[in-house]
Amino acid sequence: MKTTILLIEDNERNRYLTTFLLEKHGYQVFIAEDGRSGIDLVYQINPALILLDIQLPEMDGYAVALELTKDKQFQIPIVAVTSYAMAGDRERILAAGCIGYIEKPINPETFVMEIEQYLLPRKPQSAQENQHD
Ligand code: MN
Repeated sequence: MKTTILLIEDNERNRYLTTFLLEKHGYQVFIAEDGRSGIDLVYQINPALILLDIQLPEMDGYAVALELTKDKQFQIPIVAVTSYAMAGDRERILAAGCIGYIEKPINPETFVMEIEQYLLPRKPQSAQENQHD
């Protein structure tokens, strides 16, 4: 089964590039174009990771992260992907419940590697699977 990633992003070009890169690396990408439908999708698909744009119409990324992490049991890692680069934003992003921050424009060469550090560790391969080495 493919690892699912939820991308909450209102910009079509960013959605296209991010989805392209993630699908190329074998991930299944779900997309929400605004915060509210993003939150709904989280509970429907239970993704392994949430990539969250901060600058979103109506409900911004801070509000999305705060609402999701209001539940102290919430365990899905949320990574902000945003062009906001002003001093203090990183702190605000982390305070809202994100575990990390990737700056836009994303670097297509390193983006997947960057997001993978935030994925929860997968089950180790069984000994049998390793016998082919
Ligand atoms: Mn945006």
